Amino acid sequence: MSTIEALFYDGKSARPETVYLSVGDTGALVVTHTHRSAHYKAEQLQVSARVGNIPRQLAIPQGGQYEVEDNDWVDAWLADKKLQKGASLAYTLESKFSYAALALIITAAFTWVFFTQGLPVLSKHIAYNIPTETDQMLGSHALESLDDWIFEPSDLEEDRQAQLRQGFEQMLAQIQHSHPYNLQFRASPEIGANAFALPSGTIVMTDELVALAEDDRELYAILAHEIGHVQHRHSLRTVLQSSAVFIIVSLVAGDIGSSAGFLAALPPILIESKYSRDFETEADKFAFDYLKQHGLETQHFANIMNRLSAGSEAAEARFQYISSHPQTKERTVAFEQGEWKNIEP
Ligand SMILES: [Zn+2]
Repeated sequence: MSTIEALFYDGKSARPETVYLSVGDTGALVVTHTHRSAHYKAEQLQVSARVGNIPRQLAIPQGGQYEVEDNDWVDAWLADKKLQKGASLAYTLESKFSYAALALIITAAFTWVFFTQGLPVLSKHIAYNIPTETDQMLGSHALESLDDWIFEPSDLEEDRQAQLRQGFEQMLAQIQHSHPYNLQFRASPEIGANAFALPSGTIVMTDELVALAEDDRELYAILAHEIGHVQHRHSLRTVLQSSAVFIIVSLVAGDIGSSAGFLAALPPILIESKYSRDFETEADKFAFDYLKQHGLETQHFANIMNRLSAGSEAAEARFQYISSHPQTKERTVAFEQGEWKNIEP
């Protein structure tokens, strides 16, 4: 590139100094002043935008600026600098293949973060903003279907049912809650000791669970956990997450019936099981906080959970899909120690 003339304003005197600009071997701007010379990399200078034929200002870090009338010369130098930068980046990455690999990794990382972080947060946000009437809709007829399918009427004495319901009502009076809760009892030799919450706020407890408890506070601890599921809108969030995963996978894979589609669907399905573990943890935390805040021993929850896991492994295995309580040792540790620790999934 040619050498051109420019004016230097030092910011102190109004009289400019005539200087000469050229480009050195390294691409740096070389400025020859009357008694000295200076070198600048493009990133060291603040270059004003090109507006018509207005001379460009190149501000230097020490204060002061060069005024250049030859806009084309400035643009050529800047473009040259960009080319050199781009070239060096490509050189670092060694080849275009590296670019493609990098792009793939970034895309995979974004997808992963979306499914594991973004989607749960999004569904939670949406679920918390959907009126609780939606939960009624999701839960309506669910109990009737379950009654037809797997439940038998409870054999518990009326007095016993009333006693537990009274305890449940007392709990609700202590909890800020948003759903019309009610407690139902059913017998189910098939699923055995279990309890679960319908999104509407109906909580079903089996006679077998009541029989398994050695202390009613164990049952209230389980009920607190179930209330946690309802309060955190877990049914709605599961529906939102599953349908979002299904829609996205269908869009990406095109044909969900094909083997490629199935393979693409696998990771989200695996992640789905993580969601439900997260929900269990969230419900456990709700129960833990409730017990702590009301001076109840957290040990009660651990006691019945341990008894459940010892006694009903066969039923758990057969009814994974209805069982809302996967048995894990880690879950009960916090309750045994009376100190909440976040469980790593
Ligand atoms: Zn649960």
